[in-house]
Amino acid sequence: MRRTSASDVTRLLRPDLLAMEGYEPIEPTDVLAEALGIPPERVVKLDGNENPYGPSPRALAALADARSYHIYPDPQQRKVRRALAAYLGVDEELVVAGSGSDELIDLVLRATLSPGEGVIDCPPTFGMYSFSTSVCGGRLMEVPRREDFSLDLPGIEEAAGRGGKVIFVASPNNPTGNAATPREVEALLDLGLLVVVDEAYVEFGGESLVSWVTERERLVVLRTFSKWAGLAGLRAGYGVFPPALASLLLRIKPPYNLNVAAQAAVLASLEDVGVLRERVAFLVAEREQLYRKLARVPLLRPYPSQANFLLCRVEGAEARWVRDRLAERGIFVRHFDTPLLRGHLRISVGLPEHTDALLRALEELVATDSHR
Ligand SMILES: *Cc1c(COP(=O)(O)O)cnc(C)c1O
Repeated sequence: MRRTSASDVTRLLRPDLLAMEGYEPIEPTDVLAEALGIPPERVVKLDGNENPYGPSPRALAALADARSYHIYPDPQQRKVRRALAAYLGVDEELVVAGSGSDELIDLVLRATLSPGEGVIDCPPTFGMYSFSTSVCGGRLMEVPRREDFSLDLPGIEEAAGRGGKVIFVASPNNPTGNAATPREVEALLDLGLLVVVDEAYVEFGGESLVSWVTERERLVVLRTFSKWAGLAGLRAGYGVFPPALASLLLRIKPPYNLNVAAQAAVLASLEDVGVLRERVAFLVAEREQLYRKLARVPLLRPYPSQANFLLCRVEGAEARWVRDRLAERGIFVRHFDTPLLRGHLRISVGLPEHTDALLRALEELVATDSHR
């Protein structure tokens, strides 16, 4: 009998992937609560840019009422694509939905990259661009943002000249909170690249470029229901693509990628836009409150933000130390262990009571003055 060992299997795996570090995801509320020994209601979760108001009432009702969970979803996503197209004012042929916009990032790269082709990434930014580039066998070309977190256009032009094929620009950017200007995107389009503008946070600020997709050859705009519409756990994202790319994506995507629950919740959310927009307005107001309050904490220096989170530079202490002390108190914020972000924390905007709890905990930390 032939026995296989771990090393036998390893020999069969892609060496480039074995060498790759995985994406560092956040943990769900129940896991955090259990680790701390506190009830889940006590967790103040400000680490995932999730929506503290949850799904809209109509989305919750649609999820409860749907009776077709035993039937595969429409692989062509007809109803959802039609509703999204009407909502956006674009042709439905241009719209494709995914299991989160994360899946669309991966699919765009599968559709474009041959092994070793270049993807331009502008850190600090969303980690899925570099992650999916590695998984798809692309070559990551990093062009770091400038000190004010704006794009380094000359650096990008240079990378495009060295074989960059696709560029990802989150606008507003995660985790820095600033938006790219239309002029900057125009300049990127002039470079001949496929330009993917990720508008995961555009409902909270910045200008949407969805209407541009109809007129430009190489522009993609990605959107999601995770942040403004409170559906992060259901995984529902979408994009507006040039026609040839949209039809290719529909052919190469996993056929049932947008599940029945996600389709029902998306359709109902689009009928509940008034409620969702009101919540967005609350979060934007809370963001400004939180900014003002954090600016007065000696430990933190927040950057202005157009999204539902604030990036803060940590001064006079290690960012990780602050993160850990907050976590002990049931308050979870995001720390990124990357060279550009090591001294920073990203804090999602929550409910007013979350802001209060965070500020109380930070005052305690400042008062104990045991921080290094
Ligand atoms: C959260 C986030 C996404 C992921 O959205 P999903 O639809 O939940 O996959 C995409 N892009 C950016 C910049 C994000 O911050």
